[in-house]
Amino acid sequence: MAKNPEKLWKTPPEEALRWVRGTDLTALDHSSTPGWAGKRADGERLLAARAPELADLQEQLFAHGRTGGDRSVLLVLQGLDTAGKGGIVRHVVGMVDPQGVQHRGFGVPTAEEQQHGYLWRIRNALPRPGYLGVFDRSHHEQVLVVRVNRLEPVKTWRKHFRELNDFEAEVAASGTLIVKVALFVSADEQKERLAERLERPDKHWKYDPGDIDVRSKLPEYLVAYQEMLDRTSTAVAPWYVVPANRKWYARLAVTELLTDALRSLDLGWPAATFDVEAEKARLAAS
Ligand code: AMP
Ligand code: MG
Repeated sequence: MAKNPEKLWKTPPEEALRWVRGTDLTALDHSSTPGWAGKRADGERLLAARAPELADLQEQLFAHGRTGGDRSVLLVLQGLDTAGKGGIVRHVVGMVDPQGVQHRGFGVPTAEEQQHGYLWRIRNALPRPGYLGVFDRSHHEQVLVVRVNRLEPVKTWRKHFRELNDFEAEVAASGTLIVKVALFVSADEQKERLAERLERPDKHWKYDPGDIDVRSKLPEYLVAYQEMLDRTSTAVAPWYVVPANRKWYARLAVTELLTDALRSLDLGWPAATFDVEAEKARLAAS
């Protein structure tokens, strides 16, 4: 095993995974490990080694939020069933203090949500200053499931690309750093993961008979994903495309993207708003 696994990133993940418009999504190798030259054991070791830094950075964000800071981070997770969105939440987001996390999953809109525009429920779930927001699925479903299942006329969903970009520009301008991650597993891997959900009673709750319908529309979903990536990857809200057949790689990659995003805020610990020495003296005298 490598002494310093960090060096096994031959290209930083922010660079290796950042979506380049026009790249052919159907050519993605789902078992590849872009940028990473190490093996699984090295990857798992680096993931574990990152935990304290990630936790510290998130705590600094939280601390700034408590002392008047306006920054927040939003991690958007997109991917079809079994792509590993839940695993990212458990294993990557799970490394930080849950007090500072605002997690939200987006399913079929409820009756109440349907009374409003599609961004209504999204706006309500945006992270407050100091928080790490995590979206398991997101506003982008409006150009994915809505498009593939023809839930809206073409004329309507076509307008969403522009709306999504305008919305994210507004969110970014308000102080939220947006990190968008799209996870992709191969059709074979998806089949195996669905089979496991059927085999294991502890996974039945994750299985949805509708997943097979989605699977049968894979080519249409890939067209929709391709266009989503090409049209909604912007400077303030870039997409990172993560091949996810190897769970350890996907988790490591998202950990690195998140760590890098938090580092880029360059927050440090907020300065005390009181006289530290005076307080020490008061404490000693108490
Ligand atoms: P899960 O992520 O397994 O809980 O599944 C959530 C389901 O909600 C998926 O089948 C999504 O396609 C569906 N979904 C999410 N957003 C929308 C939306 N805006 N319109 C219709 N279905 C949606
Ligand atoms: Mg599901």
